[in-house]
Amino acid sequence: MKYIDEFQDPELARRLLDDIHSTVTRPWALMEVCGGQTHTIIRHGIDQLLPEQVELIHGPGCPVCVTPLEVIDKALEIASRPEVIFCSFGDMLRVPGTGRDLFQVRSEGGDVRVVYSPLDALRIARQNPDREVVFFGIGFETTAPPNAMTVHQARRLGIPNFSLLVSHVRVPPAIEAIMSAPNCRVQAFLAAGHVCSVMGVGEYPELAERFRVPIVVTGFEPLDILEGVRRTVLQLERGEHTVDNAYARAVRPEGNPAAQAMLEDVFEVTDRAWRGIGVIPDSGWRLSPKYRDHDAEYRFSVDGIQTREPAECRSGEVLQGMLKPHECEAFGTVCTPRTPLGATMVSSEGACAAYYLYRRLDITTAAREASPVV
Ligand code: SF4
Repeated sequence: MKYIDEFQDPELARRLLDDIHSTVTRPWALMEVCGGQTHTIIRHGIDQLLPEQVELIHGPGCPVCVTPLEVIDKALEIASRPEVIFCSFGDMLRVPGTGRDLFQVRSEGGDVRVVYSPLDALRIARQNPDREVVFFGIGFETTAPPNAMTVHQARRLGIPNFSLLVSHVRVPPAIEAIMSAPNCRVQAFLAAGHVCSVMGVGEYPELAERFRVPIVVTGFEPLDILEGVRRTVLQLERGEHTVDNAYARAVRPEGNPAAQAMLEDVFEVTDRAWRGIGVIPDSGWRLSPKYRDHDAEYRFSVDGIQTREPAECRSGEVLQGMLKPHECEAFGTVCTPRTPLGATMVSSEGACAAYYLYRRLDITTAAREASPVV
């Protein structure tokens, strides 16, 4: 296969679906970890084509959604300062903080710029030596290596006015937290293929064994998702719980050693708060002490921020797979992409945004009353 549309071939999709239908004999709950996978599933109606017994639970793998409110508020505070050029990928600009977002900071005169790479921010820092340039470094193991490399370059090239506001998170501790929750219903994981292309699969066998869950590394196109589901239900029906790589065209077992070396040089593992979920031990990275001069939290003292989440927003339950987006009372009424209460309604990988965009608005009042929290 050479082209992306080959991974959307309807005939092959039908065959995979037939295979899944003939394999499944009882109910199973699978979590797709990544928000990109959630969007593929909802956009193509894959969950509606699967056997009734197979439930897909949407996981916490949306980088924008899990960035804690406190960090968003720190970004807003730093971006408001007159000496700062604040650079970010575009999807962070509409994420609501306590009371405002980065778009509002820009409308109030803040120098907030959308960039397409952290290296763009480094170039801006070079061109503006009398300004402080801050890049908003959020996301999982996928975005962390280029951000680490940019900090490494800033130090190597002697660009002192560049810093990173870091909120990076790691997938394996999140899987551990999900499986350790008392009300967990997840019986298997479709792991995020792009994360594994960086980190490899070495962290997963211990988790699969400890929690007795199949973990199938899965890609992002419709056939990738169906193949991931097919391999997962096969393991579940057989009573197996191994790590399987269904995304071998992108993932090598060892991952990308150069990217891992860069992460190890620039970052150190730390506890991180996940928005709506809380602190997960060892679930993130921060800059290591030798790169402290490029740490925006250190350069701009932004401690003591008081945050306030909207009481109606249940994105924490959505991110943990305990609630489907359209089961939130605010979904599509007070909370829409134009008037978002939570980041899951804004992000291009957010589950609430997927349900709104692809018109999954069909929960009935009776269903709401019968099942306020799934
Ligand atoms: S629909 Fe809106 S209010 Fe409800 S969980 Fe999603 S983001 Fe929060």
